[in-house]
Amino acid sequence: MIVAPERIPVAGPSISDREVELVADAARNAWYKNHAEFNNRFERMLADYVGVRYAVSTPHCTAALHLALAALGVGPGDEVIAPDVTWIASVAPIVYVGAEPVLVDIDPVTWCLDPAAVERAVGPRTKAIIGVDLYGSTCDWARLQDIADRHGLALIEDAAEALGSLHHGRRAGAFGRVSAFSFHGSKTVVTGEGGMLATDDKDLFDRVLFLRDHGRNPGDRFFLNTEIAFKYRMSAVQAALGVAQMERIDELIAHKRAIFNWYRDRLSGLNGLTLNAEPADTQNSFWMVTIILDPSRGLDKFAMMAELDKRNIDSRPFFSPLSSLPAFNDRPSATRFVTPQDAGKVIAAYGVNLPSGYNMTEDKVDIVAAAVHEILAGRG
Ligand SMILES: *Cc1c(COP(=O)(O)O)cnc(C)c1O
Repeated sequence: MIVAPERIPVAGPSISDREVELVADAARNAWYKNHAEFNNRFERMLADYVGVRYAVSTPHCTAALHLALAALGVGPGDEVIAPDVTWIASVAPIVYVGAEPVLVDIDPVTWCLDPAAVERAVGPRTKAIIGVDLYGSTCDWARLQDIADRHGLALIEDAAEALGSLHHGRRAGAFGRVSAFSFHGSKTVVTGEGGMLATDDKDLFDRVLFLRDHGRNPGDRFFLNTEIAFKYRMSAVQAALGVAQMERIDELIAHKRAIFNWYRDRLSGLNGLTLNAEPADTQNSFWMVTIILDPSRGLDKFAMMAELDKRNIDSRPFFSPLSSLPAFNDRPSATRFVTPQDAGKVIAAYGVNLPSGYNMTEDKVDIVAAAVHEILAGRG
């Protein structure tokens, strides 16, 4: 049996001397009149890279989505359509603002919101749609925007996993009315914990700045709060880490794509195994290299993970359908459009994320790919 000599982790960042240098600089100097300098730089760099006018740094992506919904005025009595298969952070903020999530199926190729399923779920209470660019793939943004426009809905892009992806010439995070990114330690760009909200909409931007600082206007020195709101600011030390990472963004995305190509060279010949898609006119930043096993192989994601684990290889299960989780047991209306035939059910049951951290080398991909071949040999 193939066993990795050292445990191969599933995710992890790339930290150079530059990150350490800027973090030390922030710890020493980002106080007094300089307290916002790194945050401003990080926000400017991200906005320019994505191609939007405004960006706001937050403690995490969950906060950015919460602020987006709050600033759009989504609240009790409203419904927000979101994918059934995603990380729960895409959907939890809908509940924070008192609205009801309405979960629908994903597309079997892109693993992102199925526009036809969205269309079926639009009702009189629908206020917004949250599309999620899953694992670096991108949604069919033109069709989602068309649905949003026809029904007067706000379109929100959860681009937490897709920084650096391109869709019809535009970067992930440039679609919809407002988007959100994550810089959690497992993501493409890291600040430990961290997030960013991005938008072209000046009014929305102003409202977000107000809401994320306890309901006061930027620059307020008199503590005169006009609404009860939130405290969602990112620290300067985290922002400094983000600046250094954004300086290296092209190198980081190139490494992610190299990791995927190494895997593809070794795995794409295997029958009954599907890798992340990259449809025409898109470029995937491959946050996580993901395989979907054909059910005929007789190995679901947890069985596959156990086999990899025996070989000293870490992996992650594809996100489970939210509708299948205990957290949604008491929300029958959230799951009313989910059916047993949903494409997302099979993908979520048979999908596994392979090691995709920045410390992956071609040699390590060799080991993981050989392990996958060994596990699948003679099955299905
Ligand atoms: C990681 C992630 C989030 C949440 O990011 P945090 O920074 O941990 O709040 C939201 N949506 C998706 C799709 C994610 O993968």
